[in-house]
Amino acid sequence: MPELPEVENVIRSLVKKLIGKKIIAVGVLTPSIVYNRYDFVELVQDKYITNLERRGKYIIIRLDNGNLLIHLRMTGKLLFDGIISKHTHVKFDFNNGHYLLYNDVRKFGRISYLNNEELEFYLATKVGLEPALMDYEDFKNKLSKKNGPIKKNLLDQTIIAGIGNIYADEILFASGLHPVFETKCLLEKDFFALYTNIREILEKATIAGGSTIRDYVNGDGTAGKYQDTHKVYGRGGKVCNCCGCILEKTKVAGRTSVYCPVCQRIR
Ligand SMILES: [Zn+2]
Repeated sequence: MPELPEVENVIRSLVKKLIGKKIIAVGVLTPSIVYNRYDFVELVQDKYITNLERRGKYIIIRLDNGNLLIHLRMTGKLLFDGIISKHTHVKFDFNNGHYLLYNDVRKFGRISYLNNEELEFYLATKVGLEPALMDYEDFKNKLSKKNGPIKKNLLDQTIIAGIGNIYADEILFASGLHPVFETKCLLEKDFFALYTNIREILEKATIAGGSTIRDYVNGDGTAGKYQDTHKVYGRGGKVCNCCGCILEKTKVAGRTSVYCPVCQRIR
């Protein structure tokens, strides 16, 4: 569930608290959360946190030697001095008595340790264009090579990184495009509308603190406010604010998609 705006807000809420801290102990309570490293604890322990960054929906915690790559998936949370519960899976203790928890009700999230080369390779091969930084021509070239419904391609993290189900629906509504519209049939004006709306909607949502649908909170436990301005996501069966029609639901790439049959008419 956390998409680019929510992940960005988690990072912003934690950055000042974590930079410069030394990790003096790591408690892994649920080994499946820590991906693929039997020596995870030894690799992370006694390292200093030098920075926090985001790429797409990933959180990167830079260490003085190496990196933690974190994906929250559905229900993962990073909580500074949070409440320890049965949903706490990893705990990082710092030299000043504070700590960071990784809590996750559904346990789909992952924390990996990668050295600098491994991280660079992973990001270069698996994570697509960064919305705020992408060039219009790169965006158009990459997307225009794809087949299938536009919504499926917006959700593909190797094309553009950071868009999930909430913002894909909002971006398509703002662009007047039906979620199953064939990507190969996009016109120049559609590419331009998508490019503009991707950047605008993700930026506005980030400023609003993201969207809290079920239980998303940032690292301070603060909820987002952008859900109040959703035009289509979660509004199937309700009235379109733009034309007064009833919003419809369909499934695209296995995900429920809400759209307006008039504002997003298939051409
Ligand atoms: Zn409408």
